[in-house]
Amino acid sequence: MANHQQPKTSNQQPGTHSVAPSRRLPLPVFHPDFMAEAHTAAANQALHDALDNSVTKKDAGRKQTLTDLPDADGLRQWAGEIKRHTLEHLDYYLELLEQNVIRHGGKVHFALDNAQANALVVDIARRSGAKLIIKSKSMVSEEMELNQALAEAQLEVLETDLGEFILQVDHDHPTHLVMPVIHKRAAEIGQLFARYFQTAYTDQPQALAELARVYLRRRFDEADLGVSGVNFAVAETGSVVICTNEGNGRMCTTRPRVHVAIMGMEKVIPALEDLPVFLKLLARSATGQALTQYTSIITGPRRPAEADGPREFHLIIMDNGRSRILAGEYRDTLRCIRCGACLNACPVYRKVGGRSYGSVYPGPIGALLVPLFNGLEAHAHLPEASSLCGACLEACPVQIDIPRMLIQLRQDLVRKRIGPPAARIIFGFWARALRHGWSYRLGQVLQRRILRLLAGRDGWVRNLPGAVRGWTQIRDFPAPPPKGFRRLYREYRRGRTPGTGGRKDEG
Ligand code: SF4
Repeated sequence: MANHQQPKTSNQQPGTHSVAPSRRLPLPVFHPDFMAEAHTAAANQALHDALDNSVTKKDAGRKQTLTDLPDADGLRQWAGEIKRHTLEHLDYYLELLEQNVIRHGGKVHFALDNAQANALVVDIARRSGAKLIIKSKSMVSEEMELNQALAEAQLEVLETDLGEFILQVDHDHPTHLVMPVIHKRAAEIGQLFARYFQTAYTDQPQALAELARVYLRRRFDEADLGVSGVNFAVAETGSVVICTNEGNGRMCTTRPRVHVAIMGMEKVIPALEDLPVFLKLLARSATGQALTQYTSIITGPRRPAEADGPREFHLIIMDNGRSRILAGEYRDTLRCIRCGACLNACPVYRKVGGRSYGSVYPGPIGALLVPLFNGLEAHAHLPEASSLCGACLEACPVQIDIPRMLIQLRQDLVRKRIGPPAARIIFGFWARALRHGWSYRLGQVLQRRILRLLAGRDGWVRNLPGAVRGWTQIRDFPAPPPKGFRRLYREYRRGRTPGTGGRKDEG
């Protein structure tokens, strides 16, 4: 880690800083061009170091802790089956959830899209007279861009998960489902906090966490409204389950007068007895822990005899394109429990990080969800952002067959004629050539001759031109020999001694 000190510019104590880092500045716009972003990211050594350090460890931790379970694969299959069953009867379970939340004194709101969900939070905040809104980590609120909506409504909002707090101070987006700030090094965060808190520079993680902790502690007491995500919503009891590793989740859901929990409609599970199946898998898959530090099961607002908890509890259930996905051939993507294991296992994510995916949902599941949510036309590269090695399927605790669906999305690209016309023409010719023996053989002869012409004196092809230059960007390959396998085989059948030399090129 860098050891450069920055001067202390003020005597102000950490934690007395009075300006909340609301996202009043616009967040950087996501770049929808995966290839352009991936090229930049692939050359970023600092990003590789950060990813190697965390992602590889988490992936190893997942594999290790799953061995604690007597039948991890059986449990994954069971979890997948529970999700499949719930999605098949989603209308029933959502109604049951609604009835039970209301029965326990909560209010349920359905939002068709981001705008409706944001408007609901703003409306609840205004009606309750909230001055400060505190938030725990929630991917759905990132999807909604809730912080920007609250800032536009002149409401002060404060992220309280450490990673999300860092992003809020730095006006940045998360790049991992579970470790939002994975792309930042301690030195960067040290400089950021030194500027923000006006304290001496440090890059020691514990000291940085302490700065944030002292500040956030004070703000927890001032907050009127807490917003949280939902890991699971239990239809049978009307409870929401929140799994976190920092105490901030409990502070957000118990200290303020009002708690607003927001969930995508796929987060419902049928009954409390299903919960342990997911709890056993979620933390193991996400971080390699047996359980997250805190698992809160919240059922309605504070009751008369209870000492703490909010006076009002609201549950916002958001659709935002999910019913469309539910009705189509990509329904299985809605099984996702956002554990991030597929990101940690993915060789592409490990090279290019999360920003390249152009959304808050990165990695293999992002390569599916982003085109499904935002349109394939706008994210045509994402189905290609995979080596189809199958590591994501192997890692997924609910056995989502991501590689199969990525291939299906690639078929959609062809069917809908999306993508560069040059690629369509080249692949069209290729497909026709592969249909007939004579054209296939002719193609081989031409390919052999062209590659031999392009080879250097040492017999290696190093720089292919034009549309195929990507093949030699990071690898060289030897020019093909003058005789191909077919010719050698024919010679062998005719009883001649096969050789690899000769003047005539033939496939
Ligand atoms: S697709 Fe599977 S592995 Fe990836 S985040 Fe979702 S549940 Fe986890």
